Amino acid sequence: MRETTHLVHEYLRSSKRFPHIWCAGCGIGIFMHALIRVIDREGYSKDDIVLISGIGCSGRLPVYVDFNTLHTTHGRALTFATGIKLANPRLKVITVMGDGDAVAIGGNHFIHAARRNVEIASFILNNNVYGMTGGQTSPTTPYGVKTTSSPYGNLEPDFDICRLAEAAGAVLVARSTVYHTQLLERLISMALKKKGFAMLEVISQCTTYAGRFRQLKSPVEMMKWQKDNSITAEKAKGMSDAELEDKIVIGVLVDRERPSYHEQYSRLLNKKNKV
Ligand code: SF4
Repeated sequence: MRETTHLVHEYLRSSKRFPHIWCAGCGIGIFMHALIRVIDREGYSKDDIVLISGIGCSGRLPVYVDFNTLHTTHGRALTFATGIKLANPRLKVITVMGDGDAVAIGGNHFIHAARRNVEIASFILNNNVYGMTGGQTSPTTPYGVKTTSSPYGNLEPDFDICRLAEAAGAVLVARSTVYHTQLLERLISMALKKKGFAMLEVISQCTTYAGRFRQLKSPVEMMKWQKDNSITAEKAKGMSDAELEDKIVIGVLVDRERPSYHEQYSRLLNKKNKV
């Protein structure tokens, strides 16, 4: 069996795109390794995968991996992904977005991609802050937390990305942290196989900004925080909203079936071509 490091290197554009830009201890690398392990284990061909991102620290991920990749404009990963899936439904289309990228500037595209149910495996790396631009408040920054743009504390309530995805119509909604690597890999695998719009929220540490703002001084402290504050979806079922406040509910939150847009679109095209 290949060693993990060798396996990951088989998928990296090591000679062209490195060194990478991520800070030491950032959670994005943990997610990238998990994604590569799942893709390798499940036997997807590199040529069948299209990995698309918008802008932000997580937006750099497709630059480093050897699939078909697109590094697009801020908040627009899902629009490119939708076009690619409709043009070539055979491809495994994956998006990687940050929290600000997906549900602030890309929020409109996010809800409509979920509503249409185009088959896209979408991964949102939620670090509760805009990391690349210097630590500004994002839609998932918790209430009261100080950031570069809210030095007296954030006055906005934070978004629950999973609830938003569920309400918009995503057929698979799940959450993990980068601490829970085995769960993370299971959920990545489910998202890749799901027929329809799948959304996995990945709680990931921004050690440079979010950690400092929240008095979590090291990557280890941040990952310990993820571990100590997580609760499984099964356990959470019997708990009140008050009991769940500040908890990270992990696992599969929604798993349902609905006709996918791209299949209906393909059928329509075939019908028109026969006329
Ligand atoms: Fe990661 Fe934050 Fe550094 Fe960006 S700024 S690479 S999110 S630790």
